Formats: sequence, C-alpha cells, structure tokens
Amino acid sequence: MGIIVQKFGGTSVADPQKIHNVANAVIREKENGNDVIVVVSAMGHTTDYLIKLAKDVTLTPDSREMDMLLSTGEQVSIALLAMAIQSHGYKAISMNGQQVGIITENIHSKARIVDIKTDKLQKHLKEGNIIVVAGFQGVTTDGEITTLGRGGSDTSAVAIAAAMKADRCDIYTDVEGVYATDPRIVPNVQRAEVISYEEMLELARVGANVLHPRSVETAKQFNVPLRVRSSFKLDNMGTLIIGVEKMEIYKPVAGVAADSSQVRILLSNLPDIPGTAAKLFGALAKNNISVDMIIQSLASNGTNSIAFTVDAEDLDAALKTLNDEKSSVRAAEILIDKDIAKVSIVGAGMVDRPGIAADMFRALAEKNINIKMISTSEIKISCLVDKNNANEAIKALCKEFGLESTEIAEVKGDLPNV
Ligand code: ADP
Ligand code: ASP
Ligand code: MG
Repeated sequence: MGIIVQKFGGTSVADPQKIHNVANAVIREKENGNDVIVVVSAMGHTTDYLIKLAKDVTLTPDSREMDMLLSTGEQVSIALLAMAIQSHGYKAISMNGQQVGIITENIHSKARIVDIKTDKLQKHLKEGNIIVVAGFQGVTTDGEITTLGRGGSDTSAVAIAAAMKADRCDIYTDVEGVYATDPRIVPNVQRAEVISYEEMLELARVGANVLHPRSVETAKQFNVPLRVRSSFKLDNMGTLIIGVEKMEIYKPVAGVAADSSQVRILLSNLPDIPGTAAKLFGALAKNNISVDMIIQSLASNGTNSIAFTVDAEDLDAALKTLNDEKSSVRAAEILIDKDIAKVSIVGAGMVDRPGIAADMFRALAEKNINIKMISTSEIKISCLVDKNNANEAIKALCKEFGLESTEIAEVKGDLPNV
C-alpha cells in the first residue's frame, strides 16, 4: 500500500456531475489499496471570474487582497469534493493550504513553496481519510494567504507528492496526456507515451500550459514519477514524465509551443560604447523585471539598437524604468510591439543533430512567416513572429518535424486566444 497524489483541474470539477466523476476516480485509487491525497483547482472558470470581479471593483487591486479573493475558489471545490466522496460512503476531509501547512515565500500572486508540513496529512491518512487539499494556495510563516501563480495547482500536487514521498503523482485533465503541441491547434497531433522532465520543463516554460512549469521543476528535483492523464478516460495511463537518463530514444523535436504573453521593446540609436546594456538591464533587474529574448544590432552609423521581450504584465513597469534611464544611456527612441508570439521547438534529441534550426526557419519561410527575433538553448529554439501567425507556425512546425498522427485528439476547450 502506497500513497498516491491525484490532481484534478478546473474543467474536471466544473459541475456537480463532474465532481462525482472525480469522487469515483479517487475512490477507485483508494479501492486499489492506496492512501489517497487529492489536490483540486477551482471549479471551471472561477479564477477568471474572480479576477474580473476584482477588476470591476478597481483597476489596481491590492495583491494581498487579490490572494484572499482567489484562494476562495479552491476552498469551494475541496469542500464539495469531500462531500461527494463522503456521499459514496468513504471517509474524506478537506484542507486548505493553511490547514495543511503549505508554507510559501512572502510574495503575493506568484509565491514559491518553501516547505510542506506532513504531520496533519499523515494523521488524517492514518485515520483512514481521503484528504482533499486546495491547490494553488499557501501561507507565509506570518499567516498571510498566498497563491502560486496561474495553473499553480499542479505545483501544489507535485510538492505534496514530494513531501509525502508518494508513489505517484497523477495530474488529471481534459486531454489524454501530453501532446507534441496543444491539440486544440493541431487536432491530429501525436501524444507522447513518455517525455523527459527536461523536455516537459522547457515545453511548459515556452507556453505548453498543460503543466505549470514549477510542477515539472519540483518533480525533477525530487524524482517524483509524474503522469498527465484524462479525467474522463480513467483506464488510459496518459503520458509518463521521467528523467532524461531513463529515456532510450529521443526525437530531434519532441514538441512545439507558443507564448503570446510577451511584448517586444526596441531601443534605437544607442551609443556604441561599453556599459549601455549593463545600465539598461541592470535597472530592469533592480525593478524585478525579467527579460527573455535579447538582440543587439549595430547600425551603419555606429549606433546600436537593442530589442528585448518582457511579460506584457511588466510592460508599464519596464517603460517607467526605461524612461528613467533614457537620458543616461542616450537612447533616441523606445518602440513597443504588442502583437508578437514566441514560437518554440523543444527536443533533447536536437543536441547532436545539426540543421534543426535551419529546418525550422525554412518551414516558417515557406509559410511566408517573418521571424523577428531568434534565441536558442541546448534543447530549444525560439522564434518571435507576429501574433496572428502563431497558430499557422505551430501547424507548419508539427508537419516539418513529423509530429502529426493519424488519430484525432479529443479536446473539450475552445481554441486558445493568441
Ligand atoms: P486543468 O484545468 O486541468 O489544469 P489546463 O487548461 O491547465 O487544464 O491544461 C490542459 C489544457 O492544456 C488542454 O486542454 C490543452 O488544450 C492544453 N495544452 C497546451 N499544450 C498542450 C500539450 N502540449 N499537450 C496537452 N495539452 C496541451
Ligand atoms: N485555479 C487556479 C487557476 O485557474 C489554479 C489552477 O487551476 O491550477 O489558475
Ligand atoms: Mg492547469
């Protein structure tokens, strides 16, 4: 008998019928002789609704109060799921982040988990309970409620699995596993039976929102066997995510994803002298603004332009910082491009294979898609393109790298907004 952590996302607990469906999946695992801890998200689009509600009250909601508000979504679903499990004749107890002792840093809206207390979880399991834990939330050592960032319930589940030394952490969602890209964009895309933590982490970071990036980071760090599987097809084992050293075969490209949450900032006519980039990026870093892609190019008149991308959420803060620095670096102009998307290919197998980047650029060129910026890392190549080209770029890249399948994936949601 082992401990299994299961996580069910918003679509899986969207209404009472679906909550009973989840209760059945949980009981099934209990009947297999396991201790079960279930982590759930807020019902359906509750978190989006709560964010809209706050914005209708004020355009600048306080981040502490925002966490107080958003954490209520998960508190509703844990209570309802515990009731559903009890109605089937099983012992269950719901717990919020504070009751468990999911301790986070003292930062609102994107706090990291620093510790998980296991004493109460152990006690409730020993008493024969199925434990239903609120995802996405934690508490600081001062008792302040925090949230982990959008999609953060995945991270709650994996962190609990690591702390409890669970046998498995199963992330149940509305698709049948990890596909080479979002099946809402390419319905005939291949599903992976197995993918490495390293590839999944890169894919999650570049926009494959099937898993929260920090959940994969945590699973990799603590070697938690992780699966993504369907809430609606419980017999399917979905996709297993394991260490790269255990993988025998890599494709050059395991997946494609797009991220349209960034904006590009261009500074032109900068003097070509030492220290300019250090000043600019130093000032941004000091204001806690992360920069992703960077290009510096030398113009023929001996001046530089520097283009870089930041999260759209950080645009106002970045512009304020740059305007403060503008005179010290003698920048002539600051231009902003909001209609961009970063399209990336990821694969551990690209390490030893030359020509993958060239194939990517050619596939985009054949569709007449202009590349605005490029960045590469060991197992990833990203191209910045116009936002309205993102889906076409993804389709072209899936075709180019042999990621299509003869089967059509079942999807529940609408096409993502890019
Ligand atoms: P949950 O509410 O269960 O957390 P999410 O919406 O966060 O669900 O994640 C599941 C969705 O992720 C799927 O509906 C799918 O459209 C999308 N998705 C994006 N990229 C991928 C991918 N590579 N593989 C599978 N699903 C993906
Ligand atoms: N409810 C939160 C969100 O919508 C957390 C999650 O679903 O993982 O982002
Ligand atoms: Mg999610």
